[in-house]
Amino acid sequence: MTKYFIFEGEENCPCGRLKTYNECCRGRVDLYFDFWNKKGFSWLTPEFCRALAAVCGIAPRKGEIVPTAPKIYEALCRINDGLYNNKNPDERSLFVNGLFEKFMELINKKDLLKEIRLGFSRAVNLIERLDELLENNKGEKDHRKVQSEAIKKALKDWLDEEIVEEDNEDMVWEFFGALRAEEHTLEEREVLVYALKCFVDKEPSENPCWEAVLKASISDAISALEDIEEYCEPEDVDEVPILEKEVVERHPMLRRELSERAFSMAAPALDIILNGRLQFELPAYAVLGGLKACKDYLLELFAIGKYADINGQEFKKKLKELSLEDELYQALQEKAWNTDYEIFLKTVSEYLENWLQGEGKGEPGYIRSAVDFLRSCLSDFILDNTASLYMMVYIFSIYSVVMRKEASLPVRGDKEAHGIRWDEILTVEGMEEYSRYLEEKKQLAAAAHVRRVSKAL
Ligand SMILES: [Zn+2]
Repeated sequence: MTKYFIFEGEENCPCGRLKTYNECCRGRVDLYFDFWNKKGFSWLTPEFCRALAAVCGIAPRKGEIVPTAPKIYEALCRINDGLYNNKNPDERSLFVNGLFEKFMELINKKDLLKEIRLGFSRAVNLIERLDELLENNKGEKDHRKVQSEAIKKALKDWLDEEIVEEDNEDMVWEFFGALRAEEHTLEEREVLVYALKCFVDKEPSENPCWEAVLKASISDAISALEDIEEYCEPEDVDEVPILEKEVVERHPMLRRELSERAFSMAAPALDIILNGRLQFELPAYAVLGGLKACKDYLLELFAIGKYADINGQEFKKKLKELSLEDELYQALQEKAWNTDYEIFLKTVSEYLENWLQGEGKGEPGYIRSAVDFLRSCLSDFILDNTASLYMMVYIFSIYSVVMRKEASLPVRGDKEAHGIRWDEILTVEGMEEYSRYLEEKKQLAAAAHVRRVSKAL
């Protein structure tokens, strides 16, 4: 498990700034690595030292409160005294038990650790196995003891079979992120540092923290199952019925499961958008906030002083390289999304609806239903991945406006476009001209939206 926290020097820095790792955070991380390496606790393995170096050394993003080395050291000393340097076995096991109690408390209480769960179906699979096991052991003498031994063995077997390296890796990053996400008390830091150590250094089946994650997942899955049952067959018909949305909101693990399904259902639609069989022809006003965010980003990227110097080719290239970690993606998500939300949603829904009635009529049924599904989930933010779907469609739409080079299309299919270029509208005068034009075409909501974006500049 030596691959965690080894960053490539020429790749973008993990802190998210637009520099290579070599130019950005590497020096600090290396310094911290030396610092921890010389600390002299025998249990500070090189892998764990690298994790601690990354915790302290990578520059914080928005909302991260990176713990300082003395704060981490404080936690390490407590772990050292309570566990590794402690000769008394009773005190040691007391210390470990205390850690686990706090660990369970933390993953149940802290919002930032809520996602530390297994997927719903895997948790249900584990529950079923345990049920079967309890059923088989029913008649045994002294069944309580046998049961608890059997459950322990079942958990261990299950871990060995089900937990892959990627799961462990996900956990490493969860605890890394949790340590950096907010200010923690010393006790909390101690637990998080210990968990990070276990997930970095130990094989899954030897990592005691997994048991706590399994327990939390099981109890979540059980309460989700109860809610689903209640949703499907309400016991008391007079009571206010529980809504699907509520069930999903209450159980993050369920949400992840459902949203993964949502993504695969929409996949054929995304596919035909990507290969150009479903070509967006959306007016620029529907993605104006996004165009603005892209332009600002490109200006910074190319350090160009004038708007007019940015051409569609550079834009196209950058959009193609866009990834989730990208600052542009984040800018689109944080700013543009909210700006364009309502008008974009309406325009794109109408567009997909028209496509289904027109050009898309001859497409195979599975593609038509995927497009229909995509349309239906655009307004649904309950599920994480439907929000990502929305962003993808939004980015495709920005791309289509840039490629068309025309901003002014007032309605879909308009042949008398006014000829305002997309890069021209991103000036105060350009936006004014564009909104006047939209008013002329009786697109009053669109004109008002353009003025709103213009004011927000
Ligand atoms: Zn950096």
